[in-house]
Amino acid sequence: MTTVLLMGPPGAGKGTHAGHLAGRLGVPVISTGDLFRRNIAEGTELGQTAQKYLDAGEYVPDEVTNGMVRDRLAAPDARPGFVLDGYPRTLDQAGVLDELLREQGRSLTAALVLQVHVDALVGRLLRRAEIEHRSDDTEEVIRRRFEIYHEQTAPLIDFYATRGIHHEIDASADIETVRSHVTQVALQLKPAA
Ligand code: AMP
Repeated sequence: MTTVLLMGPPGAGKGTHAGHLAGRLGVPVISTGDLFRRNIAEGTELGQTAQKYLDAGEYVPDEVTNGMVRDRLAAPDARPGFVLDGYPRTLDQAGVLDELLREQGRSLTAALVLQVHVDALVGRLLRRAEIEHRSDDTEEVIRRRFEIYHEQTAPLIDFYATRGIHHEIDASADIETVRSHVTQVALQLKPAA
């Protein structure tokens, strides 16, 4: 059972590496950003609530996000493990995740932190904006997403470091190099519970 969290600032490559790693581990990716975007595209009630936060680069309130993750973690395909992409992003969410996993008799195996210098990130995000046309990849919203990451999400690095399950990965290299580093670290993990 491998339960991995991929962390990192916007544009660090969480989505790209989560997909590849999940394929190697044979587990699903659980991406809260993708779940929100799918709900928005389908016009669900949750999507309508989430949209204004995504468009502004703000975090969706914890109670909405935690409820969505609770349902997703309970799905049968997540039983053998999962790669979390973009959740938890606040200390409150990290506490809720611990609780949800404890209820299921498991725990987080590792938090992999993708580190990239901020100057490289803005360029990556603006290039992605041209390709994917995400409404939150404008320069102003990108700036806000960085601020929130540093205020609310970066403290999670210490939270997981204290627990001894965090691994920093230099994600400024090319995709292939980062991918093999991520895979190498993940395959050496001792699965929890
Ligand atoms: P991402 O695709 O991970 O960059 O997420 C895109 C946007 O979805 C974020 O800027 C937030 O508005 C929202 N979002 C994704 N994950 C979370 C989360 N764990 N908590 C709150 N908001 C989130």
